[in-house]
Amino acid sequence: MEIPRYEAKEVRGRFAARRLQFALSERVRAGIRSVFGEELTAEEAVRRIVADVAAGGQQALDEWSLKLDRHATYEVPKREWREAYDDLSTELREALGIARERLEKFHRKEPKGGFLAATSSGMLAQIVRPIRRVGAYVPGGSAPLLSTVLHTVVLARVAGVQEVIVATPPPVHPGVMAAAWAAGADRLFAMGGAQAVAALAYGTEQVPRVDKIVGPGNLFVTLAKKEVYGVVGIDGLAGPTETLIVADAGADPATVAADLLAQAEHDPAAEPWLLSPDPGLLDAVAAELERQLATLPRAEIARAALQNGGLVRVRDLASALELADLYAPEHLCLSVERPTDWLGYVNNAGGVFLGEHSGEAIGDYLAGPSHVMPTSGSARWTGALAVRDFLKIVPVVALSAAAAAELSALGARLAREEELEAHARSLEQRTPTSDA
Ligand code: NAD
Repeated sequence: MEIPRYEAKEVRGRFAARRLQFALSERVRAGIRSVFGEELTAEEAVRRIVADVAAGGQQALDEWSLKLDRHATYEVPKREWREAYDDLSTELREALGIARERLEKFHRKEPKGGFLAATSSGMLAQIVRPIRRVGAYVPGGSAPLLSTVLHTVVLARVAGVQEVIVATPPPVHPGVMAAAWAAGADRLFAMGGAQAVAALAYGTEQVPRVDKIVGPGNLFVTLAKKEVYGVVGIDGLAGPTETLIVADAGADPATVAADLLAQAEHDPAAEPWLLSPDPGLLDAVAAELERQLATLPRAEIARAALQNGGLVRVRDLASALELADLYAPEHLCLSVERPTDWLGYVNNAGGVFLGEHSGEAIGDYLAGPSHVMPTSGSARWTGALAVRDFLKIVPVVALSAAAAAELSALGARLAREEELEAHARSLEQRTPTSDA
């Protein structure tokens, strides 16, 4: 299968029109057919699962889990997380520990405070409160993403969330249990896909209802989060991964190819893109991709994903950055000379990785920032998962009598213009001329 090659003008329209949608592969379509017994879109399939769990609770959750994941759901007791953690090799425990520390250190730097302003009108403030109970979805369909446990739970803990519940498809990989222990989660449920998202949103006999669901997942998980938004909060749409690399003639083709494949192996729906003004580099990367795919264990997934992206020849680096902005990638990697000079051109990206030393795969594990980042073009309006996603900002108003009198008279004028008489009268209760 050839890796697709494009000229910039051929992808511009497609980049501009991007939104959360999935061209279902025959494999996924067949999966839906066999589960539902009819031809459904992924959206329809997800809506049915969510409605079923909302109405049927634990029994519906177990039934869907048995159908889709061949296991009933269960809660993993903490004792088992501890044992899984103790069973890790010293090297793996060290890597997990350093990743946790680096995440914690980075995210502790985020501003979390409100403010209190003593003004001539009285006291005005913003107080900040953590969300009480959060569900963190940890993907496990095709790879047990134990790193995602850290990249969600650690931030919730830094924010001060009271209870953090992890959901991941059954059977739970021991690495995920160990990471739940290392990250300091509160509960761990073996449940995956849209049914897990629905259980967290509505609650079941065993799964407590959460206030917000965070974390990445495949198309079913991402569509389910969109479906339950309003019943619970969600962090955003962190679906199948995407990387857009901008590289110049000085980039190392083997490294660029390895970075594209690191994303491609996640999911057949992943999108790896390379934009370069240098045709020689594009040829060299194409050859490297073939060479590296030959020995990659997940080559089949990566090959499928490469068909969603491709190698794009652009006029120059400025036009590459302009196209990247249009695409709004989850990961934007600048493999160019003096990458910092180009940072000013970036507006829409989930995360930016500057220079060849800042490989995105390091970001997946232990650079510092959470690897949960917006996909499907949603980097146009939102950023990577942050401590702020676990906090609520509550404004506080405490006016003096004099300020109330002055502001109420003005407010009453505005209220009557809006034809809201009860508002005006309420305001006038506080004006000195009120005879109430
Ligand atoms: P997953 O846990 O997200 O999904 C597995 C679940 O999908 C299963 O439990 C099953 O219930 C459900 N499912 C599978 N086939 C189905 C069908 N035919 N009908 C209904 N439900 C079905 O695991 P995954 O599949 O490995 O996907 C992980 C995804 O997370 C990848 O796409 C990866 O790129 C993405 N990811 C994104 C980020 C980010 O920040 N954007 C970070 C890490 C991972």
